[in-house]
Amino acid sequence: MSIIYNFRPTGMFPVIYCDACKDLIEDARNTVFVWDENGGIAFGHKGECSHALDWKTGFPYWDDLDIFLVSLSTNTGCDLRGLKAAKQRHSEFVAYGLAATDVTAASPKGKIQ
Ligand SMILES: [Zn+2]
Repeated sequence: MSIIYNFRPTGMFPVIYCDACKDLIEDARNTVFVWDENGGIAFGHKGECSHALDWKTGFPYWDDLDIFLVSLSTNTGCDLRGLKAAKQRHSEFVAYGLAATDVTAASPKGKIQ
């Protein structure tokens, strides 16, 4: 699964790994998701990784990761006010040391298993 929830001494947070190269996704603007009619979904960096996913999965549809994130929040009833409230809660978690302020610094580097 390319979306996982990390529990690490440096914080807890969800992250997405590329299904092609297995590296951490750090920039939604440089990431796509691909899917099919059967519920299949995969994530990949734009360029070489997204081309590899096309070949590997055969999924016919793709779009930018930021569209996936907006669609997910919309389809789960999380509007802008909800996102602002969640961001405030996240800030409180950071203040208590329960969440990472910099996910890239706290995430395991290298390949996901
Ligand atoms: Zn990649």
